[in-house]
Amino acid sequence: MNHDYKHARERMIKTQLIPKGIKDKLVLEAMSKVHRHLFLEEALAGEAYNDHPVPIGHKQTISQPYIVALMTQILKLTGKEKTLEIGTGSGYQTAILAELSLKVYTIERIRPLMEKARYLLNSLDYTNILFKYYDGTLGWQEYAPYNAIIVTAGAPQIPEKLVEQLAEGGRMVIPVGGKTNQDLIEVIRLKTGYKTVRHGGCRFVDLIGAHGWKE
Ligand code: SAH
Repeated sequence: MNHDYKHARERMIKTQLIPKGIKDKLVLEAMSKVHRHLFLEEALAGEAYNDHPVPIGHKQTISQPYIVALMTQILKLTGKEKTLEIGTGSGYQTAILAELSLKVYTIERIRPLMEKARYLLNSLDYTNILFKYYDGTLGWQEYAPYNAIIVTAGAPQIPEKLVEQLAEGGRMVIPVGGKTNQDLIEVIRLKTGYKTVRHGGCRFVDLIGAHGWKE
């Protein structure tokens, strides 16, 4: 099928995002602009705009559209931010962040996923994304601090290194909990320490690393 799924994207916004509370105009614009089907294997492209996660290989999944929108909305991006993403995966969330940030730093621990996402995002002409093959639970010290950090895999606890790399007033969004269910947690970095806000239940693949789950 040779179309760009424009209507599917509009339907996704009207039936999945707005009714569930996504109201940030910039987030809705980015979700209508980025062609999510390009981030899936061709055979699964027809699933791209449905209300569920989709496999992307290596036992990983692209998050459900609503979860991508919700996590992005929590970050309150304006276009000026240095944003760190842990878990590049398909690169779809990375593209949404790149639309709304000054610069995106994204880390992935499965090299073929990182290579594939980098190739695709370069071909889509994103010039404000830096990629790294690394354990994201350690953050990316070189460019810290970040105004926003997003972790797209479930963590047993909030990784200390990531909080340290958050700028004062900066926000992190991260699923924290057990292996099967987590709470989506917003972490706001204060002058000293941080505060957290819960945003409800979610279900992510494991965050694996030094400050995550063991392999
Ligand atoms: N945002 C991605 C989600 C992919 S699933 C998308 O929408 O496509 C989560 C990703 O986190 C997987 O690709 C997994 O390999 C990666 N991951 C898990 N632990 C990691 C770690 N410690 N550092 C970097 N990436 C990690």
